[in-house]
Amino acid sequence: GNTYTISAKAVILATGGFGDDPQKVKDWAHRDPEGWKSSVPIGKTGDGIIMATKAGAAMGNVSFVQHLGTEGKGIKFLGNLYATSWQPSALWVNCDGNRFSNEDVAFSFAQAANAIYEQPHHYGWSIFDDSQVKYIMEKGVDSGIGVLVPVGQKLPNLQKEIDEAVAVKSDGFKAADSVAQLAKELSVPEANLQKAVDQYNKACEVGYDGEYYKEKAYLRPLNTKKLYAIKLKAYFFSSYGGLNTNRKHQVLDKNKKPIKGLYATGLEVSDMVGPTYSTWSSGHAFGFASYSGRHAALNAIEEMK
Ligand SMILES: Cc1cc2nc3c(=O)[nH]c(=O)nc-3n(C[C@H](O)[C@H](O)[C@H](O)COP(=O)(O)OP(=O)(O)OC[C@H]3O[C@@H](n4cnc5c(N)ncnc54)[C@H](O)[C@@H]3O)c2cc1C
Repeated sequence: GNTYTISAKAVILATGGFGDDPQKVKDWAHRDPEGWKSSVPIGKTGDGIIMATKAGAAMGNVSFVQHLGTEGKGIKFLGNLYATSWQPSALWVNCDGNRFSNEDVAFSFAQAANAIYEQPHHYGWSIFDDSQVKYIMEKGVDSGIGVLVPVGQKLPNLQKEIDEAVAVKSDGFKAADSVAQLAKELSVPEANLQKAVDQYNKACEVGYDGEYYKEKAYLRPLNTKKLYAIKLKAYFFSSYGGLNTNRKHQVLDKNKKPIKGLYATGLEVSDMVGPTYSTWSSGHAFGFASYSGRHAALNAIEEMK
């Protein structure tokens, strides 16, 4: 592309972070980009952060707005099967067939992503049965996906999407008529999966999950004659951070001194969140982006006077 040189008294960086460059995800955040992926890549490749460091900025802490999700042949992003991967009433196992988390962590989508990423090869399986399919189609979802799939929304196409995924032999979705068959489909050790299912069903029966303490309301026993599994993976909506700023949103150098005329906003800014985005204050990423953008502009105008 062309290079333009633009002279300005102040520059406000707002390029939305680096999440769409897998190499930077690896180098800056030390995450395996194969298991930690941008869910909606829109060309945000850390340009603002790179430009700032060339102007003397110190690199700050980086983190993500992460979430659980799925993908695979025949699975539509944000479709009915996708939304089913966010449900707390399933049994989650890793590639060894072992349960690894309380599944109601799905309500806190960022922490759910962490739990999945920490598994061997960074994935897991969400196992549910035909009664859950009926529940989701007729009663609706317990866990929503923000405003995209609100809590309680019925997913009328779920059975159709299941049938389609089975027909195309999806790598992200499996169906089985027994635990043994499911173990084969998922390539997990049968003994481990059987143990996970038995212990889980026992917890459902007594209404107490002594292993991971999932809430009783989501302890629903699995019908082992009609089982389904969706692959669980970790994603992120955006990266968060890269540049340190002060309260005027001026970018700081290694000595924490502001670089004259240089501002950073929104997702470029470090330490708005720790390593994990706080699901319970959802909206603050947008909120901070609008606030910091306006505030940086007001401060830049003041500086130029
Ligand atoms: C699917 C999804 C759902 C989300 N849901 C929520 C939510 O519910 N609540 C919430 O608070 N936040 C949410 N977010 C995060 C929210 O979108 C961001 O926090 C916010 O948009 C950040 O604003 P920003 O200005 O920092 O960057 P962005 O809005 O990402 O804008 C950066 C822009 O810079 C452009 N750009 C990049 N490089 C260059 C370059 N070299 N030259 C020119 N332009 C460039 C990019 O194309 C982009 O348009 C969500 C994000 C996604 C992807």
